[in-house]
Amino acid sequence: MAQDFGNFINGEWVEAVSGDTFESRNPADRNEVIGAFARSGAADVNRAVEAAAGAYPEWMATPVPERADYLLRAGLILEQRRDELAEIMTREMGKTLKESRADLQEGIDFAFYMAGEGRRFFGDTIPAELPNKIYMTLRHPVGVVGLITPWNFPIAIPLWKIAPAVVSGCTSVFKPAEDTPLCAALLVDIFREVGLPPGVLNLVNGYGADAGAALVDHPGIKAVSFTGSLEVGRMINEKCASTMKRCSLELGSKNALIVMPDAELDLAVEASAWGAFATSGQRCTATSRLIVHDDIRGPFTDRLLDRVSKMKVGNGLDPDVELAPVINEQQKDRVLEYIAVGQKEGATLMTGGEELTGDEHANGYFIAPTVFDDMTPDMRIATEEVFGPVTGIMRVDSVDEAIAAANGVDYGLSCAIYTHDITNVFKAAQQLEFGIIYANAPTIGAEIQVPFGGMKNTGNGHREAGPQALDEFTEWKTIGIDYSGKLQRAQMR
Ligand code: NAD
Repeated sequence: MAQDFGNFINGEWVEAVSGDTFESRNPADRNEVIGAFARSGAADVNRAVEAAAGAYPEWMATPVPERADYLLRAGLILEQRRDELAEIMTREMGKTLKESRADLQEGIDFAFYMAGEGRRFFGDTIPAELPNKIYMTLRHPVGVVGLITPWNFPIAIPLWKIAPAVVSGCTSVFKPAEDTPLCAALLVDIFREVGLPPGVLNLVNGYGADAGAALVDHPGIKAVSFTGSLEVGRMINEKCASTMKRCSLELGSKNALIVMPDAELDLAVEASAWGAFATSGQRCTATSRLIVHDDIRGPFTDRLLDRVSKMKVGNGLDPDVELAPVINEQQKDRVLEYIAVGQKEGATLMTGGEELTGDEHANGYFIAPTVFDDMTPDMRIATEEVFGPVTGIMRVDSVDEAIAAANGVDYGLSCAIYTHDITNVFKAAQQLEFGIIYANAPTIGAEIQVPFGGMKNTGNGHREAGPQALDEFTEWKTIGIDYSGKLQRAQMR
């Protein structure tokens, strides 16, 4: 099934200027080559930015509903091809077929949602302090934007950026993760199919240090929208600061699920297993800390271990598999290293902890679902993002202690509390330092119509999804209209 793609620049598929390519392989079976893709550098980024700059004047002048219609049409094609593309996603990125379908569904939902925003795109009308004068606010596109994405949601996350950029009137250069270039190419090709004008959306595939860095450095880029690791995000933030570029960052996290004594235990266990091990823990909202009240820690731990023991680990194309491979060898080594660190730090390994290498796992990157007990707040496995199928249980004695423990990290994306006590729910809502807080729902599973983003090192204050997604790609303009026929001076009373 190998499919090769170049870059998509100014409405055409073209090879990298250097002619170089790189391969994408199936993480469940590294013998399977998914395709060869343009290995781009600064010269390719230059071409793409030029194309985007050339398309910008006409695109920003195109009526917003007309811009939005392309999203509706792209969403309809994605919907028709959902199952076919989901299978490709599972082969390229590894996650289970059900999860790949959900990734596509999230992208489809968001494309439709943003298509609707094209008929809204509201500003405000605001009364003036002077007679016969009125104010209104209008959104203005930021210009040519750079979109840099990770591999864990290879369709949904790119669409979280492409869709609002398209509606807002920005033109884009999209640099997807090097682990999922086929998903990116197929997505962009759908925009070609629906006739999005040349140059409005350009794709450069390749590695972060070459294509990604060149995009961030390019003077023609007015804003960078980045989702990925804290390490790379920090670097991008510094570069953008010195060149006065706008920059929005969606970075890592260390999410927590709190279980209080009055929680419905089976529900909390199911949510913990799903939150920790879906996508093999490779979600920015993954439940990597279980903060459990001591009164129910015994039964909670027993039930969780029982649930985890029933998880089948294997190729995501197998419908019985719950835990698919991690993305690549480097990530596998990193996760195994964290497991060793956890043991060295004194956490108790309750289950998992090893790479699976039997016949059906021989050619992929499989790690057994891993649960630690006796995790304490100072441990590295309790504070650093592992991004793999690893979670740890911490014990607490009160809701206040639970909230303090949850807040005791440098990240703040998603936190859940399982309790039926309304006081606990509101305390959590008010005191948790997380961008997304759930009561009796898992830390993962964000919906597209609500703002998504985190506090502390998870980001820099921007939100994706929801109507707030437009703020990333537009500037607010304040328009004052005076129809009094005379010079009126504000504040001169
Ligand atoms: P990563 O930071 O390694 O890579 C992300 C993207 O940045 C890739 O496209 C990569 O090629 C590019 N890149 C790498 N070096 C670059 C450089 N020097 N300049 C410009 N671009 C560069 O992250 P990853 O491994 O792809 O993804 C995992 C991380 O993403 C995790 O930390 C996870 O929490 C985070 N993530 C966050 C969210 C969120 O919304 N908060 C969502 C998904 C993933």
